[in-house]
Amino acid sequence: MIMAEETQSIHEFDFNLICEYFSHLERQGPGSPEVTLKALSFIDNLNDESQIADLGCGTGGQTLILARAAPGTITAIDLFPQFINILNENTAKQGLQDRIKGVVGSMDQLPFSAGQLDMIWSEGAIYNIGFERGLKEWRTFLKTGGHIAVSELSYFRDDPPAELDAFWQTEYPDIDMVSSNLAKLEKAGYAPVATFLLPEKCWTDNFFVPQKAAQEVFLRKYNGNKAAEDLVANQKHESELYSRYKQYYGYAFYIGRKY
Ligand code: SAH
Repeated sequence: MIMAEETQSIHEFDFNLICEYFSHLERQGPGSPEVTLKALSFIDNLNDESQIADLGCGTGGQTLILARAAPGTITAIDLFPQFINILNENTAKQGLQDRIKGVVGSMDQLPFSAGQLDMIWSEGAIYNIGFERGLKEWRTFLKTGGHIAVSELSYFRDDPPAELDAFWQTEYPDIDMVSSNLAKLEKAGYAPVATFLLPEKCWTDNFFVPQKAAQEVFLRKYNGNKAAEDLVANQKHESELYSRYKQYYGYAFYIGRKY
């Protein structure tokens, strides 16, 4: 019991640290406004009545882009209340409060009814529920003809080096090739609309580079704190791995239409 409680409190502490670290960033995963708009360009049946969900929205980098480019209203959901607070503040600042509602919640217990949604968006977040499981479960909430647009970590080649594969087999064993992910999308009941690879700058300029400043602030504040140091070390390791092996993996966007 004591062990469990201790473990619990350590987890909560880590959880808060991770949250604080990422709340300094505009995006919590690789992406860019251009990529969001490109994915949206394949979706042609939205109107002012459309109901959209952005799942695992983080602080809402892509939510604000979506709201300005697409008609309809967006319910943006994330597990971390701090992220939703930031999103709701930015939404108000940009005068988009009629179009975006930030809600704290979990992607495995969504507050929608069957067939309610016209589009489900999720950038760099579906891995939290699992690519296949997310595609299957979320499909229920979409109308027939509604779209799903998700980005997911994927292998771009069939020959990942052993060091890279060992890393992902520990961190994210579900990592798969683009063609396999596409097959999962089709099997889950969607027609494939488009798939494309995210350009390198979504990781470098937009994700790893902004983390450098955040890391300095963070390490100064949590000087000597092992959990904080580990978090930064992990992020640095991921960045180094990416610069060495970026031709083998990255994010791909998958867009499908429910039938
Ligand atoms: N879409 C954002 C954030 C991606 S990071 C962007 O591209 O910048 C992944 C996000 O998923 C984090 O914000 C994390 O808090 C959120 N998340 C993790 N588990 C979740 C869950 N079960 N339900 C909802 N959100 C979750």
